[in-house]
Amino acid sequence: MTDHRPDDPLTYPVGRRPDHAECVEVAPGVQWIRMQIPIPGLDFINLWLIEDGDGWTIVDTGLRSKKTQAWWEEIFAKYLGGKPVTRVICTHFHPDHMGLAGWLVERFPGAVLWMSFGEWSFGRMLWLDTQEEMPEEVVRFYRRLGWGEQALAAFRKRGYNFYSQVVYDVPHGVRRIVDGESFQIGGRAWRVIVGQGHSPEHACLYCAELGLLISGDQILPRITPHIGIYPSEPDGNPLQLYIDSIDIFRPLPADTLVLPAHGDPFRGLPLRLDALAHHHDVRLERLYVACDKPQTALEVVPAMFSRKLKPDDMRLASAEGVAHLHCLMGMGRVVREMASDGVYRYRRAA
Ligand SMILES: [Zn+2]
Repeated sequence: MTDHRPDDPLTYPVGRRPDHAECVEVAPGVQWIRMQIPIPGLDFINLWLIEDGDGWTIVDTGLRSKKTQAWWEEIFAKYLGGKPVTRVICTHFHPDHMGLAGWLVERFPGAVLWMSFGEWSFGRMLWLDTQEEMPEEVVRFYRRLGWGEQALAAFRKRGYNFYSQVVYDVPHGVRRIVDGESFQIGGRAWRVIVGQGHSPEHACLYCAELGLLISGDQILPRITPHIGIYPSEPDGNPLQLYIDSIDIFRPLPADTLVLPAHGDPFRGLPLRLDALAHHHDVRLERLYVACDKPQTALEVVPAMFSRKLKPDDMRLASAEGVAHLHCLMGMGRVVREMASDGVYRYRRAA
């Protein structure tokens, strides 16, 4: 592709990126769709349309917006050949993936949503939670990380949960998919590989016959998936879950064509898995070194990043930083203590 970086060991064999309402075939019966999303740093999401006997299977759906719906309508008119969409699979609950799942199953009566149960139920829970005020429990979560009263007041003002604004009504029911399960799409077997860390039960789809892995956000070519600590699981260790998940992809053939949700389809899966593991090792080490005296999450997290963080970056960055601190705590390398001010301090274990 045009922006190939000389130091990038991956190859990007698909010659052309699709335009908004366009499909580019990446393997027999498997079409790549690419839609713009207003998420800084991502800009586009890849969605997949797979020919499936008398119908079509869609994998991931895009953010809920009139524009995205219009792009889908154009695609339906141009590419479906009169056959309906019969199945919608979402890799995980994030709005750019699940945002139009409900609309698609309404648009094509009879179409069924397929997801892992953890992802569907988490998405449905967030969609139903329309409370506007930030609960005290959530405010306390941020206070413990070291956010001051001024920042907390700004969080309160900004609101609490925007999920239902960017996600169409989440269907009441789901056809559950589970790790290791195989099912047919278009007469070929696709196997579910569940990864963790980025989201609770992220489903990737692997087709040995076509040599394809739809990796969602679990494995991305040029950026690392966001792994953060949030109020829904304040003491979780998602980074360890993510690192453990890297190895479950190692048995796949080295020449697998990986179809990620962001960035271009690529080859070089083993190299990418190594790079992802290395990236987190480096960041863990930086944080460990920085924990030479007791510090709050907000004080210590900037040490993990090579670039200077802007104030606007701090919320996401601190969620990632705390995920790394929890990982170090899980390894027994860092301990956390709460001082009388109700804020956690992290330091190296003695
Ligand atoms: Zn995601």
